[in-house]
Amino acid sequence: MSIEESILGIEKNLNNNVKLIAVSKTRNIDEMEHAYEVGVRDFGENKVQELINKTEKFHKDVRWHFIGHLQRNKVKYIVGKVDLIQSLDSVRLLNEIEKRYGKENLIANMLIEINIGREENKSGIYEEELQDLLQACEKCKNVKIKGLMCIIPKGTNEQCKHYFKKAKLIFDKLKEKSYQNISMDILSMGMSGDYKIAVEEGSNMVRVGQGIFGPRKYK
Ligand SMILES: *Cc1c(COP(=O)(O)O)cnc(C)c1O
Repeated sequence: MSIEESILGIEKNLNNNVKLIAVSKTRNIDEMEHAYEVGVRDFGENKVQELINKTEKFHKDVRWHFIGHLQRNKVKYIVGKVDLIQSLDSVRLLNEIEKRYGKENLIANMLIEINIGREENKSGIYEEELQDLLQACEKCKNVKIKGLMCIIPKGTNEQCKHYFKKAKLIFDKLKEKSYQNISMDILSMGMSGDYKIAVEEGSNMVRVGQGIFGPRKYK
Protein backbone atom coordinates (compact mmCIF):
# COMPACT_ATOMS: atom_id res chain seq x y z
CA MET A 1 0.00 0.00 0.00
CA SER A 2 1.23 3.50 -0.74
CA ILE A 3 1.69 6.14 1.96
CA GLU A 4 -1.29 8.01 0.55
CA GLU A 5 -3.55 4.93 0.64
CA SER A 6 -2.47 4.09 4.17
CA ILE A 7 -3.34 7.55 5.42
CA LEU A 8 -6.72 7.60 3.73
CA GLY A 9 -7.44 4.15 5.19
CA ILE A 10 -6.57 5.28 8.71
CA GLU A 11 -8.55 8.49 8.39
CA LYS A 12 -11.60 6.48 7.41
CA ASN A 13 -11.43 4.91 10.85
CA LEU A 14 -11.16 8.22 12.68
CA ASN A 15 -13.86 10.72 13.54
CA ASN A 16 -13.27 14.40 12.96
CA ASN A 17 -12.52 14.90 16.63
CA VAL A 18 -9.46 12.64 16.48
CA LYS A 19 -6.19 14.14 15.25
CA LEU A 20 -3.79 11.93 13.30
CA ILE A 21 -0.10 12.59 13.90
CA ALA A 22 2.16 11.12 11.22
CA VAL A 23 5.20 9.86 13.11
CA SER A 24 7.96 10.62 10.63
CA LYS A 25 11.02 9.69 12.71
CA THR A 26 13.69 8.01 10.51
CA ARG A 27 11.73 8.96 7.36
CA ASN A 28 13.10 11.27 4.73
CA ILE A 29 11.53 14.41 3.33
CA ASP A 30 10.38 12.63 0.16
CA GLU A 31 8.39 10.12 2.18
CA MET A 32 6.91 12.90 4.29
CA GLU A 33 5.93 14.75 1.13
CA HIS A 34 3.52 11.93 0.27
CA ALA A 35 1.75 12.46 3.58
CA TYR A 36 1.68 16.21 3.08
CA GLU A 37 0.08 15.76 -0.32
CA VAL A 38 -2.95 14.03 1.13
CA GLY A 39 -3.39 16.75 3.70
CA VAL A 40 -1.40 15.67 6.75
CA ARG A 41 -0.09 18.74 8.60
CA ASP A 42 0.93 17.19 11.93
CA PHE A 43 4.24 15.35 12.15
CA GLY A 44 5.85 13.62 15.11
CA GLU A 45 9.58 13.38 15.74
CA ASN A 46 11.55 11.93 18.62
CA LYS A 47 15.06 13.30 18.05
CA VAL A 48 15.93 16.98 18.39
CA GLN A 49 18.54 17.10 15.61
CA GLU A 50 16.31 15.27 13.15
CA LEU A 51 13.39 17.54 13.99
CA ILE A 52 15.43 20.70 13.43
CA ASN A 53 16.82 19.44 10.12
CA LYS A 54 13.33 18.68 8.93
CA THR A 55 11.80 21.97 10.06
CA GLU A 56 14.40 23.70 7.90
CA LYS A 57 13.74 21.60 4.81
CA PHE A 58 10.01 20.84 4.94
CA HIS A 59 6.85 22.90 4.40
CA LYS A 60 6.42 25.79 6.82
CA ASP A 61 2.69 25.28 7.37
CA VAL A 62 3.03 22.03 9.32
CA ARG A 63 2.82 21.44 13.06
CA TRP A 64 5.67 19.59 14.74
CA HIS A 65 5.12 17.31 17.69
CA PHE A 66 8.03 16.28 19.84
CA ILE A 67 7.23 12.77 21.07
CA GLY A 68 10.58 11.42 22.33
CA HIS A 69 12.36 11.75 25.62
CA LEU A 70 13.59 15.35 25.78
CA GLN A 71 16.96 15.94 27.40
CA ARG A 72 17.27 19.17 29.33
CA ASN A 73 20.44 20.23 27.50
CA LYS A 74 18.58 20.07 24.17
CA VAL A 75 15.61 22.23 25.12
CA LYS A 76 17.36 25.38 23.91
CA TYR A 77 17.43 24.05 20.34
CA ILE A 78 13.69 23.49 20.02
CA VAL A 79 12.35 26.74 21.47
CA GLY A 80 9.87 28.19 19.00
CA LYS A 81 10.21 25.22 16.64
CA VAL A 82 7.65 22.77 17.98
CA ASP A 83 3.93 23.15 18.36
CA LEU A 84 3.43 20.51 21.03
CA ILE A 85 5.96 18.83 23.30
CA GLN A 86 4.17 15.60 24.12
CA SER A 87 6.73 14.21 26.51
CA LEU A 88 6.99 16.37 29.62
CA ASP A 89 8.16 13.91 32.24
CA SER A 90 9.85 15.74 35.10
CA VAL A 91 9.89 18.93 37.13
CA ARG A 92 13.53 19.43 36.15
CA LEU A 93 12.64 19.35 32.46
CA LEU A 94 9.70 21.67 33.11
CA ASN A 95 11.95 24.21 34.80
CA GLU A 96 14.39 24.19 31.91
CA ILE A 97 11.55 24.66 29.41
CA GLU A 98 10.10 27.51 31.49
CA LYS A 99 13.52 29.18 31.59
CA ARG A 100 14.30 28.81 27.87
CA TYR A 101 10.84 29.77 26.64
CA GLY A 102 10.79 32.66 29.12
CA LYS A 103 13.96 34.10 27.59
CA GLU A 104 12.27 34.23 24.18
CA ASN A 105 8.94 35.32 25.62
CA LEU A 106 7.23 32.26 24.09
CA ILE A 107 4.74 29.72 25.41
CA ALA A 108 5.52 26.00 25.41
CA ASN A 109 2.43 23.90 24.76
CA MET A 110 2.87 20.46 26.28
CA LEU A 111 1.37 17.15 27.23
CA ILE A 112 2.40 15.31 30.36
CA GLU A 113 3.64 11.83 29.54
CA ILE A 114 2.42 9.16 31.90
CA ASN A 115 4.16 5.82 32.20
CA ILE A 116 0.85 4.06 32.48
CA GLY A 117 2.30 0.55 32.40
CA ARG A 118 4.94 1.41 35.02
CA GLU A 119 7.69 0.06 32.78
CA GLU A 120 11.17 0.77 34.09
CA ASN A 121 12.75 1.23 30.67
CA LYS A 122 10.14 3.77 29.52
CA SER A 123 9.95 7.48 30.15
CA GLY A 124 6.97 9.27 31.57
CA ILE A 125 5.94 9.84 35.16
CA TYR A 126 4.02 7.55 37.45
CA GLU A 127 0.51 8.55 38.40
CA GLU A 128 1.55 9.35 41.96
CA GLU A 129 4.08 11.90 40.68
CA LEU A 130 1.43 13.85 38.80
CA GLN A 131 0.42 16.19 41.60
CA ASP A 132 3.92 17.54 42.13
CA LEU A 133 4.36 18.14 38.41
CA LEU A 134 0.97 19.82 38.09
CA GLN A 135 1.72 22.12 40.99
CA ALA A 136 5.03 23.07 39.41
CA CYS A 137 3.25 23.78 36.11
CA GLU A 138 0.81 26.08 37.86
CA LYS A 139 3.70 28.30 38.92
CA CYS A 140 5.04 28.69 35.38
CA LYS A 141 4.50 31.69 33.15
CA ASN A 142 5.63 30.27 29.81
CA VAL A 143 4.04 26.84 29.89
CA LYS A 144 0.59 25.57 28.98
CA ILE A 145 -0.37 21.97 29.64
CA LYS A 146 -2.92 20.74 27.12
CA GLY A 147 -3.41 17.15 28.22
CA LEU A 148 -1.77 13.77 28.58
CA MET A 149 0.23 11.37 26.46
CA CYS A 150 0.97 7.74 27.09
CA ILE A 151 2.74 4.82 25.48
CA ILE A 152 1.30 1.56 26.70
CA PRO A 153 3.10 -1.77 27.17
CA LYS A 154 2.93 -4.27 24.33
CA GLY A 155 0.19 -6.81 24.87
CA THR A 156 -3.09 -8.32 23.80
CA ASN A 157 -6.06 -6.20 22.79
CA GLU A 158 -7.54 -6.71 26.25
CA GLN A 159 -4.35 -5.51 27.90
CA CYS A 160 -4.20 -2.48 25.62
CA LYS A 161 -7.77 -1.67 26.51
CA HIS A 162 -6.96 -1.89 30.20
CA TYR A 163 -4.13 0.66 29.96
CA PHE A 164 -6.07 3.03 27.71
CA LYS A 165 -8.97 2.96 30.17
CA LYS A 166 -6.58 3.69 33.00
CA ALA A 167 -5.18 6.73 31.18
CA LYS A 168 -8.66 7.98 30.30
CA LEU A 169 -9.68 7.79 33.96
CA ILE A 170 -6.76 9.97 34.99
CA PHE A 171 -7.53 12.37 32.16
CA ASP A 172 -11.19 12.65 33.15
CA LYS A 173 -10.35 13.14 36.81
CA LEU A 174 -7.98 16.01 36.01
CA LYS A 175 -10.48 17.50 33.59
CA GLU A 176 -12.92 18.08 36.43
CA LYS A 177 -10.45 20.19 38.37
CA SER A 178 -9.32 23.67 37.61
CA TYR A 179 -5.64 24.44 37.59
CA GLN A 180 -3.64 27.42 36.43
CA ASN A 181 -2.03 26.86 33.01
CA ILE A 182 -3.52 23.40 32.70
CA SER A 183 -6.44 22.20 30.58
CA MET A 184 -7.26 18.64 29.66
CA ASP A 185 -8.09 18.91 25.96
CA ILE A 186 -5.80 16.34 24.39
CA LEU A 187 -5.44 12.67 25.24
CA SER A 188 -2.67 11.38 22.98
CA MET A 189 -2.65 7.61 22.89
CA GLY A 190 -2.66 4.90 20.27
CA MET A 191 -0.04 3.90 17.70
CA SER A 192 -0.05 1.80 14.51
CA GLY A 193 -1.11 -1.45 16.12
CA ASP A 194 -3.64 -0.19 18.62
CA TYR A 195 -4.98 3.18 17.55
CA LYS A 196 -8.49 1.86 16.93
CA ILE A 197 -8.73 0.51 20.47
CA ALA A 198 -7.27 3.76 21.81
CA VAL A 199 -9.94 5.80 20.08
CA GLU A 200 -12.67 3.51 21.39
CA GLU A 201 -11.32 4.20 24.85
CA GLY A 202 -11.33 7.96 24.45
CA SER A 203 -8.14 8.99 22.70
CA ASN A 204 -8.43 12.11 20.57
CA MET A 205 -4.88 12.09 19.17
CA VAL A 206 -3.22 9.06 17.63
CA ARG A 207 0.45 8.81 16.68
CA VAL A 208 0.99 6.50 13.73
CA GLY A 209 4.32 5.78 12.09
CA GLN A 210 4.71 2.34 10.55
CA GLY A 211 1.02 2.13 9.74
CA ILE A 212 1.60 5.05 7.38
CA PHE A 213 5.17 4.75 6.15
CA GLY A 214 5.77 1.00 6.42
CA PRO A 215 8.26 -0.83 8.66
CA ARG A 216 11.03 1.36 10.12
CA LYS A 217 14.60 0.43 9.31
CA TYR A 218 17.11 1.66 11.87
CA LYS A 219 20.65 2.07 10.59
C1 LIG B 1 7.60 5.77 17.17
C2 LIG B 1 6.52 6.30 18.02
C3 LIG B 1 5.17 6.19 17.64
C4 LIG B 1 4.72 5.51 16.38
O1 LIG B 1 4.92 4.13 16.45
P1 LIG B 1 4.45 3.20 15.23
O2 LIG B 1 4.52 1.83 15.79
O3 LIG B 1 5.43 3.44 14.14
O4 LIG B 1 3.08 3.62 14.87
C5 LIG B 1 4.21 6.75 18.46
N1 LIG B 1 4.54 7.38 19.60
C6 LIG B 1 5.81 7.50 20.01
C7 LIG B 1 6.09 8.22 21.27
C8 LIG B 1 6.84 6.96 19.25
O5 LIG B 1 8.10 7.08 19.66
